Amino acid sequence: MTLAYLGLGSNLGDREAHLRRGVLHLERRAVRMVALSAVYETTPWGYSAQPPFLNMVACVQTSLDPFGLLDTCLAIEEEEGRTRPFPNAPRTLDIDILLYGERIIASPRLVVPHPRLADRAFVLVPLCDLAPDLVHPVLGISLRTLAERTGAQGIRRWAPPPHWQGPCPPQG
Ligand code: AMP
Repeated sequence: MTLAYLGLGSNLGDREAHLRRGVLHLERRAVRMVALSAVYETTPWGYSAQPPFLNMVACVQTSLDPFGLLDTCLAIEEEEGRTRPFPNAPRTLDIDILLYGERIIASPRLVVPHPRLADRAFVLVPLCDLAPDLVHPVLGISLRTLAERTGAQGIRRWAPPPHWQGPCPPQG
């Protein structure tokens, strides 16, 4: 079993429902929730003419290998109606592997730690709710220090850490 950190984000439709269904779907696929961060409302990156995001981070324990975990995340995104019309487009649900134990992976399909983790406040701030003292395995710098370096602008705490359990509610 490996401890991993997943970043979840949504800026289309019922954003909170997509995050919730993402968490519940993960739990049905060999991914045990250890802890959830608070939910943050964040300013979009890259392509700014789109609605604000809700972002959060889940600490999970899993028996899936990193590629199995990636396939699981992509399948759940698809179930939530995710489409990719252009880079950084609005999305119903995005699930990224931020960290997978202390593994360093650089393959065409999967890069871990997530390649943009170190400069994304919308990921680092919720990650620091759960593991501020964790050291980035490539950079050798704590997540707290990385978060401070971003300045954490455009990040607003939106809701406390949720306790999502039980059956997955129907979509729509
Ligand atoms: P995105 O459109 O941002 O959700 O990117 C999804 C694609 O990024 C996936 O098809 C993966 O092959 C690739 N990818 C590379 N590294 C990661 C990672 N750490 N977490 C999630 N997706 C990744």
